Amino acid sequence: MKKVKLKNSKKEYNVGKIICVGRNYPEHAKELGNEVPEFPIIFLKPASNLAYDGNEIVYPNYSNEMHHEVELVLLIGKLIKNATEDEAEKSIIGYGVGLDMTLRDLQTQLKSKGHPWTLAKCFDTSAVVSEFVSTDTYKYNSQEIIALYKNGNLQQHSSLNKMIFSPVKIVKYISEKMTLETGDVIFTGTPDGVSKVERGDVLKASISNIGELTNVIK
Ligand code: ZN
Repeated sequence: MKKVKLKNSKKEYNVGKIICVGRNYPEHAKELGNEVPEFPIIFLKPASNLAYDGNEIVYPNYSNEMHHEVELVLLIGKLIKNATEDEAEKSIIGYGVGLDMTLRDLQTQLKSKGHPWTLAKCFDTSAVVSEFVSTDTYKYNSQEIIALYKNGNLQQHSSLNKMIFSPVKIVKYISEKMTLETGDVIFTGTPDGVSKVERGDVLKASISNIGELTNVIK
């Protein structure tokens, strides 16, 4: 069973489901030729796909176009269903930085056939997470800067206030569709600047005041 940790604490959480939001920054939707969505676009990854800071990210041999997507990640610490905004806010107990690794060639093929994206998004080490900063000690303000460097070059850079759907809106929306439980993890979408990675590339992801990741592609 995969776990995530709260920073400066001995607390660990068994991860239930990983829920991801697609196209949550207008500039990223545009760069892939997609419309800006009216509702959050939701997909899932299994908890077994998790990897952590310092782990190698394994490039599957059935893809030639793996992309990095740096994202704010939420840790849920309460069972909620049909949450109000207040309940949604209180259910978030941690913030982290994550990488939603994506097989873009496979995703494009699957989308064009009208098939689910599952195999483009779900593979071992496709969901990388940092430790989570506790909401007991850190107040999210949406001014945080999210960034990704590939081999030392700045590739993605944005303020979290560019997100179309805020963390609270995302949690509220998901809770209207499925129960959220302690240990669920939510990836909130990526800003523009996604790009192809190669074996040996070093990815450094960060969100100011929240966390950092360094991972090498294998
Ligand atoms: Zn993503």
